[in-house]
Amino acid sequence: MEYEPVIGLEVHAQLLTRSKIFCGCSTAFGEEPNTLTCPVCTGQPGSLPVVNRKAVEFAIKLGLATSCQIAPYSLFARKNYFYPDLPKGYQISQYEYPLAERGFIEFVSQGQKKRIDIIRIHMEEDAGKLKHGETPETASFSYVDFNRTGVPLVEIVSGPDIRSPEEAGDYLRKLRAILQYLEISTGNMEEGSFRCDANVSVRPKGQKEFGTRTELKNMNSFRHVEKALEYEIKRQISVLEDGEEVVQETRLWDASQGITVPMRGKEEAHDYRYFPDPDLVPLRIDETWIEEIRKGLPELPGEKKDRFVREYQIPEYDAEILTSTKAMANYYEECVRLFPEPKTVSNWMMGDLLRELKQDEKEIDQSLLTPQHLSEMLSMIKKGTISGKIAKDVFEEMYRTGERPVKIVKEKGWVQILDEGEIKRVIERVMQANPKQVEDYKKGKERLFGFFVGEVMKETQGKANPKIVNELLKEKLKG
Ligand SMILES: [Zn+2]
Repeated sequence: MEYEPVIGLEVHAQLLTRSKIFCGCSTAFGEEPNTLTCPVCTGQPGSLPVVNRKAVEFAIKLGLATSCQIAPYSLFARKNYFYPDLPKGYQISQYEYPLAERGFIEFVSQGQKKRIDIIRIHMEEDAGKLKHGETPETASFSYVDFNRTGVPLVEIVSGPDIRSPEEAGDYLRKLRAILQYLEISTGNMEEGSFRCDANVSVRPKGQKEFGTRTELKNMNSFRHVEKALEYEIKRQISVLEDGEEVVQETRLWDASQGITVPMRGKEEAHDYRYFPDPDLVPLRIDETWIEEIRKGLPELPGEKKDRFVREYQIPEYDAEILTSTKAMANYYEECVRLFPEPKTVSNWMMGDLLRELKQDEKEIDQSLLTPQHLSEMLSMIKKGTISGKIAKDVFEEMYRTGERPVKIVKEKGWVQILDEGEIKRVIERVMQANPKQVEDYKKGKERLFGFFVGEVMKETQGKANPKIVNELLKEKLKG
């Protein structure tokens, strides 16, 4: 039987406010433990939370950017559970009345246009962080750091619309790009600013009803999300094929072993005893504020993509990739400004540059190769200073060292040979060394032409201008 996976994702993104969501403590990352706390975020009796207006503004921005309806009335609720990193014994979240609902995100995945529903976006506070002792002396202790307690989060809940691990990865990349374009979150998964849980089930292809789902946690990179989903889909299918039933539960991704392991039975919403937080007034958002925020929205990935197609006349495929992060889009536009041949720039970025970055698992803003360097090299090709073939070597060298191409070409002696006299002499040498081939060519074996071009290029270490080589060879071989 053929099975189809059904995936829905819940993403927690940290909002880039300077202070926490319900108090004035700093949200800085990496400070000494428990230095960024106060009575409110450590849950002292009698302390009262006050909502951070900037955090609400950022959440509205995200709602608008994902075509959600912004609720004129939303409510903070207490989600009750005990955990050592949660000093109040409850987390302030939104439940019945979230800030934003019914939006969608569009993107291209494996060549196909996809539209994934956003069921809701709600605001909540983060919990603290437990650190378990790592030395023999501390191994039996756990430590708690409340610096992160009360940091503002948005939770973005997708519909069960995703049908493959790759699509899940593409959805996450698009969502992260939107957050970054809006400048409301770093989207940094390693620092925990962008975290993803996945609900996954499988069903026989063609069946309408969903299968029993499991929830996956602890995936801290896009690659791990895709791998965990792949594993879990296979696991569920084999459970069903053995005639057994999938158990509804929360499972942890174990990256070192590449498997998911059961963590606990899945809790239901009623287990949390949600109720409206009596310390916080309902959030009332008026239309003028929403419109003000809407007017201030920056150009988003989809709009930028359309503009790139229009303005630079590049294929939609190129534009989609070049706008996939804000840093990449800026890099591209800077290159085109310096070297106004948009398709040439796109080809080099999408080919050589992205290949290198992918190999090194680096982002474009970590690259030593700047737009200035790339455009300078493209100008050198255009002027004929270097050949396209040599340019590949120059590119490698620039990427590795961050040196300017002019300097590299000069130091390595890679300047292209344009001198016809010099090329003619090489051609004569090649013809003398290969009399048999010359004879065959003259008898009509024309495909030998490529052989001569190759020999001339070999003799000149790839530096001869190919156009001149072609012209002169034709002339010489005729005679
Ligand atoms: Zn505080």
